Amino acid sequence: MKLNELKNITDSFTISNKMPVLFIGHGHPMNAILDNDFTKSLSEISKSIQKPNAILVISAHWETVGTFVSTNPTPRTIYDFGNFDEDLFKVKYEPKGHPELAKELIKSVESISIKEDKTMGLDHGAWTVLKFMYPKADIPVFEMSIDYTKGANFHYNLGQQIAKLRQKGVLIICSGNIVHNLGKLDWHHIDAKPFDWNVEFDTLVKNNINQRNFDSLINFQKLGVAARISIPTTEHYFPMLYSLGMVQKDEQIRHVYEGYQYGSVSMRCFQIG
Ligand code: ZN
Repeated sequence: MKLNELKNITDSFTISNKMPVLFIGHGHPMNAILDNDFTKSLSEISKSIQKPNAILVISAHWETVGTFVSTNPTPRTIYDFGNFDEDLFKVKYEPKGHPELAKELIKSVESISIKEDKTMGLDHGAWTVLKFMYPKADIPVFEMSIDYTKGANFHYNLGQQIAKLRQKGVLIICSGNIVHNLGKLDWHHIDAKPFDWNVEFDTLVKNNINQRNFDSLINFQKLGVAARISIPTTEHYFPMLYSLGMVQKDEQIRHVYEGYQYGSVSMRCFQIG
Protein backbone atom coordinates (compact mmCIF):
# COMPACT_ATOMS: atom_id res chain seq x y z
CA MET A 1 0.00 0.00 0.00
CA LYS A 2 1.28 3.43 -0.90
CA LEU A 3 1.67 6.06 1.76
CA ASN A 4 -0.99 8.27 0.11
CA GLU A 5 -3.54 5.52 0.27
CA LEU A 6 -2.77 4.96 3.92
CA LYS A 7 -3.21 8.65 4.62
CA ASN A 8 -6.61 8.65 2.90
CA ILE A 9 -7.76 5.78 5.05
CA THR A 10 -6.55 7.55 8.19
CA ASP A 11 -8.38 10.74 7.18
CA SER A 12 -11.66 8.98 6.58
CA PHE A 13 -11.28 7.06 9.84
CA THR A 14 -10.81 10.31 11.75
CA ILE A 15 -13.84 11.93 10.11
CA SER A 16 -16.15 8.99 10.70
CA ASN A 17 -15.11 9.05 14.36
CA LYS A 18 -15.82 12.69 15.00
CA MET A 19 -16.80 13.53 18.55
CA PRO A 20 -20.39 14.30 19.49
CA VAL A 21 -21.48 17.73 20.73
CA LEU A 22 -23.37 18.08 23.99
CA PHE A 23 -25.80 20.70 25.15
CA ILE A 24 -25.98 20.43 28.93
CA GLY A 25 -28.56 22.23 31.06
CA HIS A 26 -26.35 22.72 34.15
CA GLY A 27 -28.88 24.34 36.52
CA HIS A 28 -28.08 25.37 40.08
CA PRO A 29 -24.41 25.08 41.26
CA MET A 30 -25.59 22.86 44.15
CA ASN A 31 -26.00 20.02 41.65
CA ALA A 32 -22.21 19.71 41.89
CA ILE A 33 -22.56 18.06 45.31
CA LEU A 34 -25.86 16.23 44.79
CA ASP A 35 -26.52 12.66 43.77
CA ASN A 36 -29.70 12.92 41.69
CA ASP A 37 -31.14 11.79 38.34
CA PHE A 38 -29.48 14.66 36.55
CA THR A 39 -25.97 14.15 37.95
CA LYS A 40 -26.28 10.38 37.43
CA SER A 41 -27.15 11.00 33.79
CA LEU A 42 -23.96 13.06 33.35
CA SER A 43 -21.87 10.05 34.38
CA GLU A 44 -23.82 7.85 31.97
CA ILE A 45 -23.39 10.24 29.04
CA SER A 46 -19.59 10.30 29.34
CA LYS A 47 -19.41 6.51 29.60
CA SER A 48 -21.34 6.15 26.35
CA ILE A 49 -18.94 8.19 24.20
CA GLN A 50 -15.33 7.68 23.20
CA LYS A 51 -12.70 9.34 25.35
CA PRO A 52 -11.94 12.82 23.94
CA ASN A 53 -8.48 14.34 23.39
CA ALA A 54 -9.70 17.58 24.93
CA ILE A 55 -12.91 19.32 25.94
CA LEU A 56 -14.07 22.76 24.81
CA VAL A 57 -16.74 24.32 27.03
CA ILE A 58 -18.91 27.22 25.89
CA SER A 59 -20.51 28.34 29.14
CA ALA A 60 -23.25 30.79 30.08
CA HIS A 61 -20.94 31.98 32.86
CA TRP A 62 -18.17 33.45 30.75
CA GLU A 63 -19.62 36.56 29.15
CA THR A 64 -17.34 39.14 27.53
CA VAL A 65 -17.23 41.97 25.01
CA GLY A 66 -15.62 40.25 22.00
CA THR A 67 -15.00 36.50 21.89
CA PHE A 68 -12.14 35.00 23.93
CA VAL A 69 -10.61 31.53 24.13
CA SER A 70 -8.67 30.42 27.18
CA THR A 71 -5.04 29.46 26.53
CA ASN A 72 -4.28 29.01 30.22
CA PRO A 73 -2.28 25.74 30.60
CA THR A 74 -3.44 25.34 34.24
CA PRO A 75 -7.02 26.62 34.65
CA ARG A 76 -8.21 26.98 38.26
CA THR A 77 -11.65 26.29 39.69
CA ILE A 78 -13.72 29.50 39.80
CA TYR A 79 -16.39 29.81 42.51
CA ASP A 80 -18.53 32.29 40.63
CA PHE A 81 -21.66 32.23 42.81
CA GLY A 82 -22.97 33.59 46.12
CA ASN A 83 -23.41 32.10 49.57
CA PHE A 84 -24.18 28.46 49.02
CA ASP A 85 -23.29 25.36 51.03
CA GLU A 86 -19.65 25.50 52.11
CA ASP A 87 -19.09 21.98 50.73
CA LEU A 88 -19.48 23.50 47.29
CA PHE A 89 -16.40 25.64 47.88
CA LYS A 90 -14.38 22.54 48.78
CA VAL A 91 -14.82 21.04 45.32
CA LYS A 92 -11.73 21.40 43.18
CA TYR A 93 -11.74 20.48 39.51
CA GLU A 94 -8.45 21.35 37.89
CA PRO A 95 -7.50 19.51 34.70
CA LYS A 96 -4.84 20.88 32.38
CA GLY A 97 -5.72 23.38 29.67
CA HIS A 98 -4.89 22.84 26.00
CA PRO A 99 -3.21 26.01 24.68
CA GLU A 100 -2.30 24.41 21.31
CA LEU A 101 -5.87 23.42 20.41
CA ALA A 102 -7.15 26.73 21.79
CA LYS A 103 -4.81 28.63 19.48
CA GLU A 104 -5.81 26.40 16.58
CA LEU A 105 -9.47 27.30 17.23
CA ILE A 106 -8.57 31.01 17.23
CA LYS A 107 -6.75 30.68 13.89
CA SER A 108 -9.47 28.63 12.26
CA VAL A 109 -12.20 31.27 12.60
CA GLU A 110 -12.01 33.88 9.86
CA SER A 111 -15.24 35.86 10.32
CA ILE A 112 -14.12 37.51 13.57
CA SER A 113 -10.93 38.05 15.49
CA ILE A 114 -10.99 35.82 18.57
CA LYS A 115 -8.68 36.88 21.39
CA GLU A 116 -6.59 34.82 23.80
CA ASP A 117 -7.21 34.84 27.53
CA LYS A 118 -4.17 33.48 29.36
CA THR A 119 -5.62 33.53 32.88
CA MET A 120 -9.20 32.24 32.63
CA GLY A 121 -10.03 29.29 34.90
CA LEU A 122 -13.09 27.00 34.78
CA ASP A 123 -16.39 28.64 35.69
CA HIS A 124 -19.17 26.65 37.36
CA GLY A 125 -20.96 26.06 34.03
CA ALA A 126 -17.94 23.88 33.22
CA TRP A 127 -16.72 22.20 36.42
CA THR A 128 -20.07 21.37 38.07
CA VAL A 129 -20.80 19.26 34.97
CA LEU A 130 -17.32 17.87 34.21
CA LYS A 131 -16.91 16.71 37.80
CA PHE A 132 -19.48 13.97 37.11
CA MET A 133 -18.50 13.27 33.53
CA TYR A 134 -14.74 12.96 33.98
CA PRO A 135 -14.13 12.81 37.77
CA LYS A 136 -10.39 12.17 37.38
CA ALA A 137 -9.94 15.54 35.61
CA ASP A 138 -7.52 13.77 33.28
CA ILE A 139 -8.73 15.36 30.03
CA PRO A 140 -7.54 18.89 29.12
CA VAL A 141 -10.28 21.54 29.15
CA PHE A 142 -10.45 25.01 27.61
CA GLU A 143 -13.28 27.50 27.33
CA MET A 144 -14.65 29.94 24.77
CA SER A 145 -16.55 33.01 25.97
CA ILE A 146 -19.92 34.38 24.87
CA ASP A 147 -19.88 37.91 23.45
CA TYR A 148 -22.94 39.42 25.12
CA THR A 149 -23.03 42.35 22.70
CA LYS A 150 -23.97 40.01 19.84
CA GLY A 151 -27.31 38.53 18.78
CA ALA A 152 -28.53 34.99 18.25
CA ASN A 153 -27.40 34.68 14.62
CA PHE A 154 -23.81 35.52 15.53
CA HIS A 155 -23.64 32.69 18.07
CA TYR A 156 -25.26 30.14 15.74
CA ASN A 157 -22.83 31.08 12.92
CA LEU A 158 -19.78 30.87 15.19
CA GLY A 159 -20.96 27.41 16.27
CA GLN A 160 -20.98 26.38 12.60
CA GLN A 161 -17.39 27.57 12.14
CA ILE A 162 -15.89 25.74 15.10
CA ALA A 163 -17.70 22.43 14.47
CA LYS A 164 -14.57 21.12 12.68
CA LEU A 165 -12.82 20.74 16.04
CA ARG A 166 -14.95 17.63 16.52
CA GLN A 167 -12.75 15.86 14.00
CA LYS A 168 -9.71 16.49 16.16
CA GLY A 169 -11.16 14.50 19.02
CA VAL A 170 -12.51 17.56 20.85
CA LEU A 171 -15.71 17.08 22.80
CA ILE A 172 -17.62 20.36 22.66
CA ILE A 173 -19.92 21.00 25.62
CA CYS A 174 -22.33 23.91 25.40
CA SER A 175 -23.45 24.61 28.96
CA GLY A 176 -26.52 26.73 29.72
CA ASN A 177 -30.26 26.14 30.25
CA ILE A 178 -33.12 26.33 27.75
CA VAL A 179 -35.44 27.73 30.46
CA HIS A 180 -33.72 29.81 33.17
CA ASN A 181 -35.72 32.35 35.16
CA LEU A 182 -34.03 33.16 38.50
CA GLY A 183 -36.73 35.69 39.46
CA LYS A 184 -39.34 32.92 39.59
CA LEU A 185 -37.11 30.26 41.18
CA ASP A 186 -38.53 28.30 44.13
CA TRP A 187 -35.17 28.44 45.94
CA HIS A 188 -36.00 25.85 48.63
CA HIS A 189 -37.54 23.12 46.48
CA ILE A 190 -35.40 21.50 43.83
CA ASP A 191 -38.32 19.19 42.95
CA ALA A 192 -40.91 22.02 42.75
CA LYS A 193 -43.61 21.49 40.13
CA PRO A 194 -42.46 23.24 36.95
CA PHE A 195 -44.44 26.29 35.86
CA ASP A 196 -46.71 25.69 32.86
CA TRP A 197 -44.74 28.16 30.75
CA ASN A 198 -41.53 26.25 31.59
CA VAL A 199 -42.97 22.95 30.33
CA GLU A 200 -44.55 24.68 27.34
CA PHE A 201 -41.38 26.36 26.14
CA ASP A 202 -39.09 23.42 26.93
CA THR A 203 -41.38 21.15 24.89
CA LEU A 204 -41.59 23.64 22.06
CA VAL A 205 -37.78 23.77 21.88
CA LYS A 206 -37.57 19.96 21.93
CA ASN A 207 -40.03 19.70 19.03
CA ASN A 208 -38.21 22.34 17.00
CA ILE A 209 -34.89 20.57 17.56
CA ASN A 210 -36.41 17.26 16.46
CA GLN A 211 -37.84 18.87 13.32
CA ARG A 212 -34.51 20.64 12.62
CA ASN A 213 -36.40 23.91 12.71
CA PHE A 214 -33.39 25.85 14.00
CA ASP A 215 -34.46 29.15 12.43
CA SER A 216 -37.38 29.45 14.80
CA LEU A 217 -35.05 28.86 17.78
CA ILE A 218 -32.66 31.55 16.52
CA ASN A 219 -35.65 33.92 16.24
CA PHE A 220 -36.82 33.02 19.74
CA GLN A 221 -38.31 36.50 20.33
CA LYS A 222 -41.12 35.49 17.99
CA LEU A 223 -42.03 32.39 20.00
CA GLY A 224 -44.56 34.05 22.29
CA VAL A 225 -45.19 34.64 25.99
CA ALA A 226 -43.72 31.36 27.29
CA ALA A 227 -40.45 32.13 25.50
CA ARG A 228 -40.31 35.61 26.99
CA ILE A 229 -40.71 34.32 30.56
CA SER A 230 -38.32 31.41 29.95
CA ILE A 231 -35.52 33.64 28.58
CA PRO A 232 -35.50 36.81 30.71
CA THR A 233 -31.78 37.12 29.83
CA THR A 234 -30.05 35.34 26.97
CA GLU A 235 -26.77 34.04 28.46
CA HIS A 236 -28.16 30.60 29.37
CA TYR A 237 -30.02 30.22 26.06
CA PHE A 238 -27.20 31.17 23.68
CA PRO A 239 -24.98 28.11 24.43
CA MET A 240 -27.74 26.00 22.85
CA LEU A 241 -27.49 28.01 19.61
CA TYR A 242 -23.77 27.21 19.39
CA SER A 243 -24.59 23.51 19.64
CA LEU A 244 -27.29 23.72 16.95
CA GLY A 245 -24.78 25.45 14.66
CA MET A 246 -22.63 22.31 14.88
CA VAL A 247 -25.32 19.88 13.68
CA GLN A 248 -24.32 18.17 10.43
CA LYS A 249 -26.84 17.07 7.83
CA ASP A 250 -28.67 13.83 8.79
CA GLU A 251 -26.94 13.71 12.15
CA GLN A 252 -28.82 12.15 15.04
CA ILE A 253 -29.89 14.33 17.99
CA ARG A 254 -30.83 12.49 21.19
CA HIS A 255 -32.37 14.01 24.30
CA VAL A 256 -30.15 12.41 26.93
CA TYR A 257 -31.81 14.09 29.94
CA GLU A 258 -35.19 15.74 30.43
CA GLY A 259 -36.41 17.33 33.65
CA TYR A 260 -37.02 20.49 35.65
CA GLN A 261 -35.58 21.99 38.81
CA TYR A 262 -36.81 24.71 41.22
CA GLY A 263 -39.93 25.27 39.08
CA SER A 264 -38.38 27.71 36.65
CA VAL A 265 -35.38 25.86 35.19
CA SER A 266 -35.37 23.22 32.44
CA MET A 267 -32.54 20.69 32.78
CA ARG A 268 -32.86 19.32 29.22
CA CYS A 269 -29.61 17.94 27.78
CA PHE A 270 -29.11 16.64 24.24
CA GLN A 271 -26.37 14.93 22.29
CA ILE A 272 -25.58 15.63 18.66
CA GLY A 273 -23.92 12.75 16.82
ZN1 ZN B 1 -25.85 28.85 35.10
